[in-house]
Amino acid sequence: MSVAGIAAPLTGAPAASSPSQGVGETSGGSSRRGCPQRVEERPERGQGWGKNWVGKMEMQAIQADRQGGHGRGRFRPVGPAQVLGAFGPEFLDAAACRDWILLQAHPAGPACPWCGKPVSSSRLQATWQNLGRVQCAACGRFFTGLTGTALNKTGLDCRRYVLLCLLLALGAGDQAIASKLGINRETVRRWRLRFAAQEKAQATATSKHATATRERA
Ligand SMILES: [Zn+2]
Repeated sequence: MSVAGIAAPLTGAPAASSPSQGVGETSGGSSRRGCPQRVEERPERGQGWGKNWVGKMEMQAIQADRQGGHGRGRFRPVGPAQVLGAFGPEFLDAAACRDWILLQAHPAGPACPWCGKPVSSSRLQATWQNLGRVQCAACGRFFTGLTGTALNKTGLDCRRYVLLCLLLALGAGDQAIASKLGINRETVRRWRLRFAAQEKAQATATSKHATATRERA
């Protein structure tokens, strides 16, 4: 009984593989006849379409780049290394960064950070949106949309601030971030410490709140 069980898959194996080989040959042959250009574009044996594949034109472009741009390639490569080298705050939209920061910091809209009175005049709201100085109608104190936020009086514009946060979140080093933003490495280190302290304080506040909620329940 055990002998028959072993014998069955052994006899079945070669029978199953030979017809599939035949199908592969005919379909490959017809595609080669029908579309000869496709076969030329295929990567050579061993290259594959996987992680190491470089297109024929891309390879020409890379070689042309190495030769100082005088090769046959008509374009230069545009990939991660080029983006990393070129990317800076100017790639970001200044108004989009500013509006996003204001919305994050003031989800309820413009209001006086000292007494809480909302900015009702549409003219003053526009000034506030452009980060201009606004005087509170109730308490008379001056403020901007950034008063009281981390960005206030730091010398970083909104684009640089967003890029700083993004690069810190992605784990970039202080020196790399400093050169991207055109600021001092020590400044980046201080921002890193500041954000770390902020996160820690936030986590403590959240856990305290959770404990208080549990005790009340
Ligand atoms: Zn006020």
